[in-house]
Amino acid sequence: MDNFTYHNPVKLIFGKGQIAQVGRDIPKGARVLFAFGGGSIKANGIHAQVVDALGQAGLTFVEFSGIEPNPRYETLMKAVELARAEKLDFILAVGGGSVVDGCKFIAAAIPFEGDCWDIVAKRARLKSAVPLGVVLTLPATGSEMNAFSVVSREETGEKLGFGSPAVMPRFSVLDPESTYSLPPRQLGNGIVDAFVHVLEQYLTQPADAPLQDRLAEAVLATLVEIAPKVMATPPDYQARANLMWCATMALNGLIGQGVPQDWSTHMIGHELTALYGIDHARSLAAVWPGVVAVRREAKRAKLLQFAARVWGLTEGSEDQRIDQAVAKTRAFFESVGVPAGTIAAGIPAEAAQLVSARLSERGGLPLGEDGAIGAAEVRAILEAAA
Ligand code: NAP
Ligand code: FE
Repeated sequence: MDNFTYHNPVKLIFGKGQIAQVGRDIPKGARVLFAFGGGSIKANGIHAQVVDALGQAGLTFVEFSGIEPNPRYETLMKAVELARAEKLDFILAVGGGSVVDGCKFIAAAIPFEGDCWDIVAKRARLKSAVPLGVVLTLPATGSEMNAFSVVSREETGEKLGFGSPAVMPRFSVLDPESTYSLPPRQLGNGIVDAFVHVLEQYLTQPADAPLQDRLAEAVLATLVEIAPKVMATPPDYQARANLMWCATMALNGLIGQGVPQDWSTHMIGHELTALYGIDHARSLAAVWPGVVAVRREAKRAKLLQFAARVWGLTEGSEDQRIDQAVAKTRAFFESVGVPAGTIAAGIPAEAAQLVSARLSERGGLPLGEDGAIGAAEVRAILEAAA
């Protein structure tokens, strides 16, 4: 196990009815930017709950709506201008990962001097950020309890991430009932995103870290166990509650401390989203089979452990067990409505060359836990991911 410092200051407020308390954790006298997406929170009543809670706490707020999936720099800068003009000093993000990520960027950009795109493109050091709170409506990204954000820029066709302790939420409210209005497509996406977050931190080379391994396996096995109940109608409170907790645990940093991390599926997936507009989770399910195909030898020991402990596969040769584990994982993605592999995801063959060139031009290579994925390997991954 490598040395690590783990500090996660996010206060997590979990359970039904908790949105009513959201004013309690915002400083008295704060002027709040209440930011959200395309309107799902108006249809499901969460907008009204938040307005009530802010009113009860006597807080002044200004609304900003229209943060789109894969939030765009162009949209977020409008919120930055609004917050600067209205002297807003607290941000409340209400929505899924896109709204939360978008608000992290807004929080960093409001006090930033210079070109705000540098926060993402040059990973500029942040001296400060406006404090941020979250009401999460879509369990998937873990953004509610981490320091990361992914922002897209329409003008340049980029999708890039940044991270800073300054943008970690002060608090996040997770009410499982807020997920009841999610369409099946977003539920399936959430399950796959959380599952792949764990794989990025687990399916690497062995690190002699059995606790991290078992924490990761616990999240994976729980996702497999609850997925049918999560997808069922009418919504099952316990299944949604467990999904929310799994998705947070998948990427709040805990399971990845002191162990190697991969993230190549995400980095290649971001390019597919930037190029073809494909949903984030769908980009991951499209790429992952290629990553395990090309990196099979480097990941062999962990693939065998994954096969045994998550899928219960203990019979047959090593190669048979790995093949079966990959097949079961693909079938799991498809069972929640997310196509596995690039062909099923509708990604053209030209993507292999395009993505490889884009990553290499931007200096985004090498990838992988051991830095062994260069331009040729990215091409091979996308070719093998069919
Ligand atoms: P999302 O893009 O936030 O939301 C997808 C859709 O779901 C939107 O149309 C949204 O509608 C709708 N929605 C959200 N909550 C709903 C609800 N309760 N009922 C009905 N519809 C609802 O999805 P996401 O998967 O959470 O976020 C994806 C983004 O996060 C991507 O940009 C990805 O790259 C990023 N990401 C970040 C991290 C991280 O660590 N920060 C990790 C992985 C991925 P409205 O717009 O109307 O709300
Ligand atoms: Fe993700």
